Amino acid sequence: MEGSPERHSKKKVVAVVGGGLVGALNACFFAKRGFDVEVFETREDIRQAKIVKGRSINLALSHRGRQALKHVGMEEKIVSQGIPMHARMIHSLSGKQSPIPYGKKGQVNLIILLLLKSACHAAAVSLRPDGSTEEVEADLIVGCDGAFSAIRKQFLRRSCFNYSQTYIPHGYMELTMPPINGEFAMKANYLHIWPRNTFMMIALPNMDKTFTCTLFMPFEEFEKITTGDEVIEFFQKYFPDTIQLIGADALRRDYFRLPAQAMVSVKCSPYHIGGKCVLMGDAAHAVVPFYGQGMNAGFEDCIVFDEIMDQFNEDFNAVLPEYTRVRVPDDHAIADLAMYNYIEMRAHVNSKWFLFRKHVDNFLHFLMPRAIIPLYTMVTFTRTRYHEAVERWHWQNKVIHFEKIQQAASLLKSDHFVLVSFLTFPENFIQIHLSVFE
Ligand SMILES: Cc1cc2nc3c(=O)[nH]c(=O)nc-3n(C[C@H](O)[C@H](O)[C@H](O)COP(=O)(O)OP(=O)(O)OC[C@H]3O[C@@H](n4cnc5c(N)ncnc54)[C@H](O)[C@@H]3O)c2cc1C
Repeated sequence: MEGSPERHSKKKVVAVVGGGLVGALNACFFAKRGFDVEVFETREDIRQAKIVKGRSINLALSHRGRQALKHVGMEEKIVSQGIPMHARMIHSLSGKQSPIPYGKKGQVNLIILLLLKSACHAAAVSLRPDGSTEEVEADLIVGCDGAFSAIRKQFLRRSCFNYSQTYIPHGYMELTMPPINGEFAMKANYLHIWPRNTFMMIALPNMDKTFTCTLFMPFEEFEKITTGDEVIEFFQKYFPDTIQLIGADALRRDYFRLPAQAMVSVKCSPYHIGGKCVLMGDAAHAVVPFYGQGMNAGFEDCIVFDEIMDQFNEDFNAVLPEYTRVRVPDDHAIADLAMYNYIEMRAHVNSKWFLFRKHVDNFLHFLMPRAIIPLYTMVTFTRTRYHEAVERWHWQNKVIHFEKIQQAASLLKSDHFVLVSFLTFPENFIQIHLSVFE
């Protein structure tokens, strides 16, 4: 970019490192404010590449992500390329399918496959396919270079930078379920889940009528399966309804195509160095994928930063510390919640207690939509700050006396039981008697 006309303009220059999801969106936010934006991406431009290396994960886009896209006028463009997802569909071992809605009618997640392909049209894109380096001057460097961020590594050399990373014992592997007679092989508008306690498989629909099935399992279990016949035996035992749908030959072949991938959770603080450099997206907070919030949280980073830019009149020296102050507790909260859902998705959805709780939550939300809001609803369908959603969830659990209900349930060791519990609000003395028959 040396000598280009933009270099001599008076506009402030923002260098966005990483042209993935969050980097591309961030470029739009800065460009909308009239900054000179340069995006640095190590990978080839996938709009032009003949062969795109790597993985394409289909992602659940929910309220927070949509709000950020809306801000830069991209919401409709992206949403029109997605598939609405109304509920989870739980597959039992016997092949029985039971839906669990996400929230109220009309509250849906959207599956999108990649990418803000056209998002960075307003920004200068600098591609470095040969891997060489170049020094670039910028007023602000925004590190959006993902979970293994090179920008974050520079932070590690400074004092008072807190950092932790945790690899979970599970890896993930993707398998494809092809269409049948040109149509989806299963019901399309669902997140299909096969929970098997210590591991699980999920399937998400794609626009080409395929499903991407993702098997999450401890690495040691992946490694135990070494032949095609063992793959079939394993699927016969745990996911029998999927063998015909994925195809036995495809299963035998695709299981060994790529090794299972690791999942890491990263927390750090602060997110900034002075008024010069800031981290966003996975570079600041990689989370395990079980709440479907990694990208959504990264997109929300952009909108939060933008709101603070308004508040502090685009003064980076004031904006960056405030961004750290506001955003760190929320990103840490979603990292913890994603870990919590890691267990909920593969184990709790099998339990009657979990299903009962979901019904109680939804019922109370129906009765008192402002007082009781299910955690999943707050996280997925609102912009309630993540850490406030967690605090409120703890408070709700206290007032609904879930522990007492659970104790009573375990005392009554019958399949058919009646529970009577009380929901007490000290302020207004409302008491609700719940009776549950099973
Ligand atoms: C299996 C799985 C399922 C998921 N499902 C969901 C979901 O349903 N919903 C959801 O919200 N999130 C989901 N996520 C999380 C989501 O994928 C990430 O949070 C999101 O991709 C983060 O975007 P990012 O732009 O911060 O990082 P990335 O997408 O990792 O992009 C970083 C970019 O930086 C580039 N880069 C790296 N190093 C450099 C460098 N030194 N210089 C220049 N460029 C560099 C990379 O090539 C890449 O393009 C899932 C993740 C996984 C693994």
